Parts: sequence; structure tokens; C-alpha cells
Amino acid sequence: MGIFNDFLENAKAVVYKVGEKASDAYDITKLNTIKARHERDLAKQYKALGVKYYGAFKSNELEKTDFSKELSEIEDLIEQLDNTKKQIDNIKSMKRCPVCSKLIKADETYCSECGSKL
Ligand SMILES: [Zn+2]
Repeated sequence: MGIFNDFLENAKAVVYKVGEKASDAYDITKLNTIKARHERDLAKQYKALGVKYYGAFKSNELEKTDFSKELSEIEDLIEQLDNTKKQIDNIKSMKRCPVCSKLIKADETYCSECGSKL
């Protein structure tokens, strides 16, 4: 479970960081890297579930086999992946006021903080 926990810690750290200062290209790049990692981990978990399922099927132990741990890890990864995608969408929909640097939705015409035209 070490790798999985490391990855959760990493994801939390990024969520915190993005809350601090969104809209930097650096954060998008970092989030895309994390998104790719989530996708890789998810593919690994799906494979592990498939291997376990097949093994249980072959030895006629399907009904006795507990898949809840694998399933909950997959659920967690899907949730993390969705969160990362939402963060990316969120950052992409924001721009920074050139005068006061406040983050504003990309479709706004005026800065809600200082009133500058954007
Ligand atoms: Zn402003």
C-alpha cells in the first residue's frame, strides 16, 4: 500500500498548492503529470483485479474471493482522477487580472477586484 499512500499524499499536496495559486502554466503541467499517473495507476489496478478474478475463476473460488479491497482502490483512483480533471478545467477557465493579479473567470470583461478592463 506504500505506493498508493504516497500517491494520495502527492495528490493532496497538489490540491493544496492549486488552491493557493491557480492558473499558472506550471500547475497545469504538474496536474497533467498527475492525471497521467492516475490513469496509469488505474490501468494497473484494473489489471490486478482482472488477474485476481481470473485466478479465482480458474480455481473455482470465485464465490469465496473478496474483491472489495481492489474495488475500493479503483473507486479511490477514479475519484482522484476526476478531482484532477476538475482542477485542470478550473484553472483553464480562469485568467489573472493584469493590474491586481486576482484570478477571474475567463469570460469576465472587468476585474471584480479592481474594476480594470480585462
Ligand atoms: Zn484587478
